[in-house]
Amino acid sequence: MDYQISEVFTSIQFEGLHSGTLARFVRFAGCNLDCKWCDTPQKNVAELISLGELRKRINEDPIPQHIVLTGGEPTLQPIHKLIDFGEFEDERFIALETNGTQIVELIRCADQGLGITFSPKNFAGWKDVYSQIETNDIAEVKIIEGTLTPYEFEWIIGRGWKRVYIQPQWGVKESFQRSIDLMNEYPYMRMSYQTHKLVGLR
Ligand code: SF4
Repeated sequence: MDYQISEVFTSIQFEGLHSGTLARFVRFAGCNLDCKWCDTPQKNVAELISLGELRKRINEDPIPQHIVLTGGEPTLQPIHKLIDFGEFEDERFIALETNGTQIVELIRCADQGLGITFSPKNFAGWKDVYSQIETNDIAEVKIIEGTLTPYEFEWIIGRGWKRVYIQPQWGVKESFQRSIDLMNEYPYMRMSYQTHKLVGLR
């Protein structure tokens, strides 16, 4: 089976737990949601490549220690097969960024020890997501400020995630201050900021 890929590139991960690490990003094409604040137009650009070709691109020298599977929504495609390869059994750390709507694929990935970054976008299935990855020591939730209803926000942070990030909406000045206000209210909350955009990186 071929994979729909938008791009494979190396950059700095500036978001969440692994902020500051050099990473190879695999952006899978396509998404099942249509968020009005979506800032990844590249998700609609698709190239079909085989599993072998994808593996080759990920492994191009120099190989960063960190691999980020992102999108679009990566779990619309069987990405667990990529991880199954055994090619990644070295010290590299693989992280998945997901909207959490494809629970079956998400569980397969969590079972294989991926770091899961759950970025909730609509309420469907959240309970399942939390119950399946709550024991994943490296799971984190990243909330885009201003995109959840008060009920959804309270529900999410009420689950007791070990790592909760608030990310201001890019280009919305007031969102930065509102994020700081939330951090005052929830002192364990950290800010995730898209610094790569500030410095002109992808
Ligand atoms: S889930 Fe993410 S990639 Fe998909 S439309 Fe929403 S913001 Fe964009």
